[in-house]
Amino acid sequence: MQAFVKPGQKVLIKPNALLGQTPDHAVTTHPAVIAAVIKAVKKAGGIALVGDSPGNAHSNVPETMEKTGIKQAVKEAGGIMVYFQHEGIVPVPSPSGNRRLPLLNIAKPALDADVIINLPKLKTHNLTLYTGAIKNMFGVIPGFNKSSFHTINPRPRDFAVSIVDIYQIVKPALTIMDAVVGMEGPGPANGQPRKFGALLASTDGVALDAVCSDLIGHRPGEIFTTVEAVRRGLGEMDLARIEIVGARLDELRQADWKKAFNSQGFINWLPDFLFNLAAPIVKQLTIYPVIDQEKCTQCLTCFRHCPAKTIVHDQEANVVWIDKKKCISCFCCHELCEYDAIKLDRSWLVRLLGLG
Ligand code: SF4
Ligand code: SF4
Repeated sequence: MQAFVKPGQKVLIKPNALLGQTPDHAVTTHPAVIAAVIKAVKKAGGIALVGDSPGNAHSNVPETMEKTGIKQAVKEAGGIMVYFQHEGIVPVPSPSGNRRLPLLNIAKPALDADVIINLPKLKTHNLTLYTGAIKNMFGVIPGFNKSSFHTINPRPRDFAVSIVDIYQIVKPALTIMDAVVGMEGPGPANGQPRKFGALLASTDGVALDAVCSDLIGHRPGEIFTTVEAVRRGLGEMDLARIEIVGARLDELRQADWKKAFNSQGFINWLPDFLFNLAAPIVKQLTIYPVIDQEKCTQCLTCFRHCPAKTIVHDQEANVVWIDKKKCISCFCCHELCEYDAIKLDRSWLVRLLGLG
């Protein structure tokens, strides 16, 4: 840690605190990992700050941090919680000159930190296939500012451009992946926890993503955030050029790790004009969320966060439902429903073609 942190430096530790779930759900970075990093930072003389912006902008962030066990771990280890929503945002121009999203509202503590240590969780992701080092930095965008990322970039390939913009602006000095217990299946919130049994670290988060995605059965070139980051020279994804120490990849690899839903694989590679021409077919090749009325508590989290405003709260009929016409399949609702009341439904064509 002394190689990264000098005495007196402000160190922002960025876990994945997506939702208020207990650590056994494997949705969030385990508090034990966060506590260990805080102690190491303090030992190196740094000031250990811990902050994230959960996916649910309406959530009570201190409560979320408490449910995940992060708040207690920070207190016990002698760190300081920072709540991005109270600390202000700074609009930063897109470093790639992205015209879709030219300004990114970054939480001030992430820009003020001398050092950032990124603590992602190894998980699958329904929109991006895999979520790790690069995607974890999306959390420096506080609350509602995240929605526009989905409406402006409904395709994962375009979404990745904005995510890599964020990573480039607040590039961590060190990334430590909590892969002790990861998540497989329909992640990042509703998949199944699965033991992986490792912590993986690198100064190059792109290389770490290439390795981790490979270890759970993806080619690094399938992950748009990895490809985009490499295109910009932010890191390495060629496994032959990445030095691995501590364990052999074939010792760690779990190739039967269940994948997230993904019906948009090849569509993403279409150029924009073909993608627009193919829109009616694309609609049929998409997976849509459906609300399980038995499980729905009408908490309205999905209703409030749907970037396409296509979730209906029918008070008369006392029901919440999804109007698929405007749905952009961003899966935010699926990610944020704490009651597992949203299922992902394959269209007949997706089932027929065996996609997703
Ligand atoms: S589907 Fe889930 S998030 Fe949406 S209102 Fe019902 S319980 Fe809440
Ligand atoms: S209904 Fe769900 S998947 Fe569709 S746009 Fe809204 S949040 Fe995204």
